[in-house]
Amino acid sequence: MSKILIRGAKVLGGAPQDVLIDGEVVEAVGTGLSAEGAEVVEAAGKVLLPGLVDLHTHLREPGREDSETVLTGTRAAASGGYTAVFAMANTFPVADTAGVVEQVWRLGREHGYCDVQPIGAVTVGLEGKKLAELGAMHESAAGVTVFSDDGKCVDDAVIMRRALEYVKAFGGVVAQHAQEPRLTEGAQMNEGVVSAELGLGGWPAVAEESIIARDVLLADHVGSRVHICHLSTAGSVEIVRWAKSRGIQVTAEVTPHHLLLTDELVRTYDPVYKVNPPLRTERDVLALREALADGTIDIVATDHAPHPHEDKDCEWAAAAMGMVGLETALSVVQETMVDTGLLDWAGVADRMSVQPARIGQATGHGRPVSAGEPANLTLVDTAYRGRVDPEGFASRSRNTPYQGRELPGRVTHTWLRGKATLVDGKLT
Ligand SMILES: [Zn+2]
Repeated sequence: MSKILIRGAKVLGGAPQDVLIDGEVVEAVGTGLSAEGAEVVEAAGKVLLPGLVDLHTHLREPGREDSETVLTGTRAAASGGYTAVFAMANTFPVADTAGVVEQVWRLGREHGYCDVQPIGAVTVGLEGKKLAELGAMHESAAGVTVFSDDGKCVDDAVIMRRALEYVKAFGGVVAQHAQEPRLTEGAQMNEGVVSAELGLGGWPAVAEESIIARDVLLADHVGSRVHICHLSTAGSVEIVRWAKSRGIQVTAEVTPHHLLLTDELVRTYDPVYKVNPPLRTERDVLALREALADGTIDIVATDHAPHPHEDKDCEWAAAAMGMVGLETALSVVQETMVDTGLLDWAGVADRMSVQPARIGQATGHGRPVSAGEPANLTLVDTAYRGRVDPEGFASRSRNTPYQGRELPGRVTHTWLRGKATLVDGKLT
């Protein structure tokens, strides 16, 4: 059966409507649509959004299949309401050639849980010394438009300038992990009151902010686009706000964990809270929420960073940095942005689907829920509340900071071009 009638859903949180899917597209949106010949999904009380798009996912394949694969990562994505993810380049081998990005792209297509758009490395081997084959990756079947050395900062200003100039030719974007490496040597957590008390090496806000300031000026100088990964400080928000006011082509993302958690959690010494950039202060969290609400920060991106338990269940200093995020992102955004009144569901659709699709040029994603559009959709039971149980994750890894925490909202259905990838909370 190729027709599906989603009955009585609050489209983008608005008045209840029926949405009829025929094959790969939305055929009609309205009230009292005929269910004839269609499978009916009762959606009264639930919110229907365009399928979510994650501009920052670590799928780990090739090379670290013990933590995640394209299959398990895209199943986690579908489970969290995503229909497209951008796969970061810090794999083994690094995605710095047309061959590697095509391999990742092809695996995503074969599995079919969500579209996988590879991100290409900016520099060969993420070493920050020599530009990678940006043009060849763009012209490959994967059609790469986003480039990043994420995990590492492109700290050489000349390399960054050349990358910005190069991607400008085909309308691409460089996504920067803003972290001045010398200022963060040996850093274990946010530099501040808590790091001083615990005696852990601090990670100053200025390490992030100085690179952002430099890069918006470079983007302005060469007339190119720069995207800032995972903003984590109030000062970073101020710099991006200033740059936008000057018409500089900068976009920025925030992770769900930086919208909710603070460095006070590091007092537990539980490595699940060890992440790069680090959890900051309450003041930073509030500034990030406000900036996401007013559009200074364009999008929420998960920085889904799976690690096997042997890399996380160890002492703080030795533990790997990162958290899984695809399966809890929407719940954290509901908790921090919707239930606080900062953003409505149309705003969530904008920050988690429309804008990331625009920045990454994910064709067919982030579209309005209306007739003729690709049926990339997700249905959310926003009244649900429950405790996070990582044992139920589709991801191969379990390093979530939310284990046992009560969070609102649950994705019940996801459709990728009309094909259900998640039905009643179960992957197909
Ligand atoms: Zn990063």
